[in-house]
Amino acid sequence: MGEHALLSASSSHRWLNCTPSARLEETFADKTSAAAAEGTAAHNLSEHKLRQFLKLKTKKPTSKYDSQELNHYTDVYIEFACELIAEAYARSSDPITLIEQRLDYSHYVPEGFGTGDLVIVADGLLDVVDLKYGKGVRVSAEENPQLKLYALGALALYDDLYDIKGVRMTICQPRLDNFSTFELTVDRLIEWAETELKPRAALAIKGTGDFNSGEHCRFCRARATCRARAERNLELAKLDFKLPALLTDDEIAEVLPQANELKAWAKDIWEYAEAEALAGRKKWLGYKLIESSSKRKYTDEAKVAEQVLATGNYNEDEIYAKSILGITGMTQLLGKKRFAEILGDLVVKPPGKPTLVIESDKRQEWNSIDAAKADFEDVTDL
Ligand code: SF4
Repeated sequence: MGEHALLSASSSHRWLNCTPSARLEETFADKTSAAAAEGTAAHNLSEHKLRQFLKLKTKKPTSKYDSQELNHYTDVYIEFACELIAEAYARSSDPITLIEQRLDYSHYVPEGFGTGDLVIVADGLLDVVDLKYGKGVRVSAEENPQLKLYALGALALYDDLYDIKGVRMTICQPRLDNFSTFELTVDRLIEWAETELKPRAALAIKGTGDFNSGEHCRFCRARATCRARAERNLELAKLDFKLPALLTDDEIAEVLPQANELKAWAKDIWEYAEAEALAGRKKWLGYKLIESSSKRKYTDEAKVAEQVLATGNYNEDEIYAKSILGITGMTQLLGKKRFAEILGDLVVKPPGKPTLVIESDKRQEWNSIDAAKADFEDVTDL
């Protein structure tokens, strides 16, 4: 890690949708977040574990993020990766496995390169796997441009030696139990690269084309102060609603597609303004910084226990609260298999609260009749 292409694979969803964004982002400092640093630690540990599996020379990395949780979720990724590698060996006698491989796709995207977490070439099939350690946003492999760029880079390396016909791309997001896979033919991938990727990349490298805001603005460094994003969100306020006094269903349907983005934009503006005020760079007219309310807390829990017990009026059972490990903690303790064996019958997944989402969302539509039936069955079981 470390070195980054301007038109990086990880930001490709953004610069493909909004071609001037990459050059605009260059004018902002690249602030690394704790989540990104934790992701790097997960990648380093995963690389080490995979190298161990492949009997390659390696040294266990250490970081401040080392924990049972990091160990557990990298194990989940490794289990998936090892199965894929074993499957490749079953299919072909001479598969190629690459870990954390630099992949150059500059034949389509100027100066473009990235790092593929796991690439396997076996018997006409190219596997590209990307580990996502974050759990903020569920990432889908379907038509995922980051994975397609990695695949183009891998094809450039191996297509001459191996007659690769198809590409299978996988996002492995262990903390969300998300293993999303998408397959496409090499012909379709090349067609996309020639007709969509190449022309958009040519605009992006020059910083030209039209600004276009949307959900891809989420991680853009310009997101708080970008004019195009502000204008698009402020358009909502300008919607020409006619009488009667209450909004019609059609008008509400017009607001819905933008409501989420509007919420995200307002949050980004607020965070930016607060950070600038906190740093002493700005004083916003009509606003001030205050100290928010906080809760009292012990300075030293061991001493608190010692002093309460010393009164002789209370025992340990009274002053300590005991609670059982949660499902994640217990799975880490027992391992996935043992957990299923011992506790499989004692775990239920209650139905989630119905939530309004966009129609293209992959999850199945909530059905009020099925839900009522399930409720009724629960009651009659009592
Ligand atoms: S915030 Fe959105 S619209 Fe503005 S430059 Fe970034 S990606 Fe483009």
